[in-house]
Amino acid sequence: MRIGGLEKFSLIDFPGNIACIIYTIGCKFACPYCHNPELVNETVEREIPVKEIYEFLESRKGLLEGVVITGGEPTLHDDLLEFISEIKKMGFKVKLDSNGTNPKMLKRAIGKKLVDYIAMDMKSPLEIYHKTVSRPVDIDAIKTSIELLMSSPIPYEFRTTIIKSLLSPGDIEQIAKEISGAKNYYLQKFVSVKILNPQFKKKVTYTDEEFSELRELAEKYVENCYVR
Ligand code: SF4
Repeated sequence: MRIGGLEKFSLIDFPGNIACIIYTIGCKFACPYCHNPELVNETVEREIPVKEIYEFLESRKGLLEGVVITGGEPTLHDDLLEFISEIKKMGFKVKLDSNGTNPKMLKRAIGKKLVDYIAMDMKSPLEIYHKTVSRPVDIDAIKTSIELLMSSPIPYEFRTTIIKSLLSPGDIEQIAKEISGAKNYYLQKFVSVKILNPQFKKKVTYTDEEFSELRELAEKYVENCYVR
């Protein structure tokens, strides 16, 4: 594992659980609005040794309920499941964030009951995915991950970060169709803070009123659609 960050406390990132957040280094996408450029560009100031993470978690037994593993893209790391397994042995629940590019690893994580919640990004309608992530994409892998989550017994969510000029209302409706029947779909407001592509700093998201309309569009296809 290559770990580039640790947030020691969060009430909002793992539904229903007090958690910490572990940030893994590396991602094969380059979403312009990515909030973790140092993880994607692999320019973190200091890599955190795994041993240090285990020591921190030992000290938080009984205080934290869960651990969020996010990135970057955690499933790029071949030893991810061994890492999660150690965390589970300490008694923590695990939420895994993924961009869905490694369905084989997701399948193993689900099969071995190593994850308690999975959040998967839906970047855009599948047809224009490569444009949104600025990289070539194996769309079949994304489709397989979608099917995997929707057929799994584990709680999950799909989520889309929305910049107005990148995704039209029709695009949002198309994404919702592509995850038709999903339990939970979150429409996330783009927040312009530190991001991968500085040219996107001035980009805006939709207004609250427009988000309500987007939610209505998506709700026709999924069980629950939320804005955050
Ligand atoms: S937002 Fe995009 S570039 Fe950033 S970590 Fe997630 S998938 Fe990778």
